[in-house]
Amino acid sequence: MSEAPFPAADPPPGVAIEARDVHKVYRLDGVEVSALRGVTLRVDEGEYVAITGPSGSGKSTLMHLFGCLDRPSSGTLLVGGRSISEMGDAQLARLRNNEIGFVFQSFQLLPRTSAVDNVALPLVYRGVGRSERRRRATAALEAVNLSHRLRHRPTQMSGGEQQRVAIAVALANSPRVLLADEPTGELDSATAASVFGALQTANAELGATVLVVTHDPAVSSMVRRVIAIRDGRTSTETLRRDAADGSGALEHAVEYAVLDRAGRLQLPREMTETLGMRDRVRLEAEPDHIGVWPDQPQRAGATDSDGGAA
Ligand code: ADP
Repeated sequence: MSEAPFPAADPPPGVAIEARDVHKVYRLDGVEVSALRGVTLRVDEGEYVAITGPSGSGKSTLMHLFGCLDRPSSGTLLVGGRSISEMGDAQLARLRNNEIGFVFQSFQLLPRTSAVDNVALPLVYRGVGRSERRRRATAALEAVNLSHRLRHRPTQMSGGEQQRVAIAVALANSPRVLLADEPTGELDSATAASVFGALQTANAELGATVLVVTHDPAVSSMVRRVIAIRDGRTSTETLRRDAADGSGALEHAVEYAVLDRAGRLQLPREMTETLGMRDRVRLEAEPDHIGVWPDQPQRAGATDSDGGAA
């Protein structure tokens, strides 16, 4: 009996990834670099989440940890409910190979091999038989809208098509979690939209939990949840709700700050700078909210740009 090419469209509800106060320190030539400084977040199964943030803020490090390519220096990271710090190398490799799909900025395809063989080849190492490999590869390419390009080689395809083949490679193994790190970094915006569309299909129709690191503002109209990372921590989250007109479009974005378990709140720099907030802020507890004011009324013409975290 052949296996289904993809997981069921409705995965059991649960937590795909949960990070609790995750830190990652790299040691390079005796120097310590704190790439992650206490990330706490939870991604439920079936979510499609974008992660944004300036270069060097820790996004790729986070994706490495989520992908079980590395372990946290401290804190707890649960992938599929299992703590990756407590797993041996072989268990971690199994989890990575069986449940996680990766899509990178560079497509990592074999240039002189057809799209369908690029997708089918990795399945050889998983012991999948020839006809089943072909079936899964064709289904994965159909899912990313490339059924008309099965025989094309990457060198005969556009950048967006190549990236969609790379998504199909990841999908052919039916991952529960699909991680894409800057998948549209080298593509123009129209082409990028087709790549985000393929990730959306992987999420909505194939049931994969999708996390995508991107600088591309176009993604925010396609995902409900955008997590911003700054200085190795989650800073804000923007959640989008359905439009009230029932069109199915996403609108009404609401920005949230992340409140960690110690009660720390990081205010967006744009907001603190505009109000001249620095060093300390005045708080007032109201029945249904907490007001935050600058310590001193803002001086006219003040230019100090050193705002920051509360
Ligand atoms: P981003 O993906 O947001 O650009 P990264 O996660 O790549 O950020 O990097 C976060 C910080 O960790 C940076 O200061 C980077 O130089 C450092 N870093 C990343 N990987 C390594 C590594 N393997 N060894 C040492 N430092 C690293």
